[in-house]
Amino acid sequence: MSQPATKCSLCGGDAFFRQPYSGQAYCRSCYPRAFENRVRDHIVRRRLLRPTDRIAVAVSGGKDSVSLLHVLTKIERAFPKAGLLAVSIDEGIKDYRAEALEIATENTGNLGVEHHVLTFRDLYGRDLDQIAEAASAKGESSVCAFCGILRRKALNVAAKSHGATVLVTGHNLDDEAQSFLMSLLRGDISHVGRSHGRVEGFIRRAKPFSTIPEREVALYAYLKEIRHQSVLCPYAGSSIRNDVRRFLDAIEAKHPGMKFNVRGAVDKLSPLVLRMDGTYRTCAICGESSSGELCRSCQVLQGLGILA
Ligand code: SF4
Ligand code: ZN
Ligand code: ZN
Repeated sequence: MSQPATKCSLCGGDAFFRQPYSGQAYCRSCYPRAFENRVRDHIVRRRLLRPTDRIAVAVSGGKDSVSLLHVLTKIERAFPKAGLLAVSIDEGIKDYRAEALEIATENTGNLGVEHHVLTFRDLYGRDLDQIAEAASAKGESSVCAFCGILRRKALNVAAKSHGATVLVTGHNLDDEAQSFLMSLLRGDISHVGRSHGRVEGFIRRAKPFSTIPEREVALYAYLKEIRHQSVLCPYAGSSIRNDVRRFLDAIEAKHPGMKFNVRGAVDKLSPLVLRMDGTYRTCAICGESSSGELCRSCQVLQGLGILA
């Protein structure tokens, strides 16, 4: 006997997508609205943004960040005293970042959002490709570990320099669950506090997609025909993140909801880790906020022999 077609939870029409963890189903026309409402509810419930915020959206050109820009542009219209800008980091990755930046520029232009680009070369005096060479000469294989630290500081600097009061990133539920497991595997849980709490000297951060699975963000981008970069970064293959992603996807397929459980643990742990990390001071080299004498970016650059 054939199963009855699943019906959209909102309009009762034929659904094309069902959330395995909630039982909700959506048709093509209701899904984007439901997605936008979910993001808005999350922002309000968690008080991620304030009505007078100058919001800097980190736009890499990938599906998450560009979709976030589209959703926030809609939400921001209801808050006339808020401002929106986009910041992009050009790490200097040959045959990859130029296309992403072109997509970021096209999307910000279409949406009428001011857009600023900061390069690794301007901030650190080197492209990521050169930093990767220095890392390889030192026997380091994971470029992403360095890039992540340097990008984080670059975004902080870019957002602050353009007067933003909050930096918003497109990290989704999968990113968050992966990052937490990677922190555990590296034995460095201080990342959990830095990533989820308000850290002294750093601009406030918000992640409106952090409870939305990656495939649901991808579905929004697809249905809204949002142009985004689909080519993978050439350094992504060497990342431990790929192994962690496969592991989490396999667990989630067998036990829907596990990624939410990991995300929930992050929420509980982050205030404790922040308290454990103690006070922040100023980096002796660059003057940015730091838990030690040197900030993590300067530690990375010094370790690679790029900073004296
Ligand atoms: Fe940087 Fe790795 Fe992301 Fe490439 S994949 S942009 S190297 S963090
Ligand atoms: Zn519907
Ligand atoms: Zn520093």
